[in-house]
Amino acid sequence: MDKVVKNIVELLEPAQSITIVPHSNPDGDAIGSAVALGVVFTNMGHSAKIISPNDYPDFLQWMPGNIKIVNFQRKKKQAEKFINESKLMFCVDFNDIRRTKYMEKTIDAFTGKKVMIDHHPCPAQFADFSISRPEYSSTCELVYDFIEAAGLSRFLDTQAARVLYAGIMTDTGSFSHSTSRPNLYKVLSGLMKFDIDAEEIHARIYDNFSTQRMRLMGYCLLEKMVVLPEYSVGYISITLEELKKFNFEPGDTEGFVNIPLSIKGIIFSALFVEKEDHVKISFRSKGSFPVNEFSSNHFGGGGHLNAAGGETKLKLSETLDFFTQLLPNYLHLLNRND
Ligand code: 5GP
Ligand code: MN
Repeated sequence: MDKVVKNIVELLEPAQSITIVPHSNPDGDAIGSAVALGVVFTNMGHSAKIISPNDYPDFLQWMPGNIKIVNFQRKKKQAEKFINESKLMFCVDFNDIRRTKYMEKTIDAFTGKKVMIDHHPCPAQFADFSISRPEYSSTCELVYDFIEAAGLSRFLDTQAARVLYAGIMTDTGSFSHSTSRPNLYKVLSGLMKFDIDAEEIHARIYDNFSTQRMRLMGYCLLEKMVVLPEYSVGYISITLEELKKFNFEPGDTEGFVNIPLSIKGIIFSALFVEKEDHVKISFRSKGSFPVNEFSSNHFGGGGHLNAAGGETKLKLSETLDFFTQLLPNYLHLLNRND
């Protein structure tokens, strides 16, 4: 067994309280990895709780089942009490504690052992034991292999298999990217042995939107999408006022950033969403254009080669000007056609 995995297995020796933390604004992969670990630890006899930095979208609410998720932003006292009672923390789907926003200070001050399981490039060194594998499609795929390598597969059950499948599905855009490694299919095949209904899981996530969300999407495509073929770029921006008009709920803009990439010739897309005191940005690309570098160079963010995010404190209109002014500098990378 890999030495790090062996060390982590030793930490799991006595039954204990274990805190599991996903990144802020958790997505399917973050909640899926956290719940799967929660299920396995609970089945082992531990008391496991997920402390999420903030709320998670409605279409993922089916995932936790009996595994408790405490919203740190809303129930800070309760969350801190549990964290203080545990000596072991698993950090999943992020590799820098700044990604936990509201929880950064608490995680930094945690005196127990921290384990990180993540698939983003360029990990920061904050955990005692790190499993960092950027070649994995998703943290869920990696969590499956960790559970197997740790000799804990007998503690997996149908719920864990369903959430791991959902996390892999969402992080690969419904199996449309990061799907060329054979290992992914080994993991999916292992999950299918739990007799899970892949179609039903797909429908729970992708056929579960509100009418308002679909109308917001239509509005964005008709009125707000800007296509700059000369740069192979497409982007969408949404103001706070527009979000309010369409009764925005967390998760409603999920997936919007991918839409411009469906246009012929577009290889770089962005979504700018105005928040109370900042602008949240998502970037996606096709081929070799590195949106993680673009985001870390100009928007204090990061992520993967083809999917990244960041934010600015500029006004939305200023952010858009800043973004478009950057494009000529990247023309040589954007027009490569690979
Ligand atoms: P999304 O656009 O779906 O929010 O995020 C896409 C990818 O970029 C995810 O892998 C996510 O972890 C990463 N990401 C999103 N926002 C940020 C950010 O503000 N900072 C960093 N470092 N990564 C981000
Ligand atoms: Mn992920």
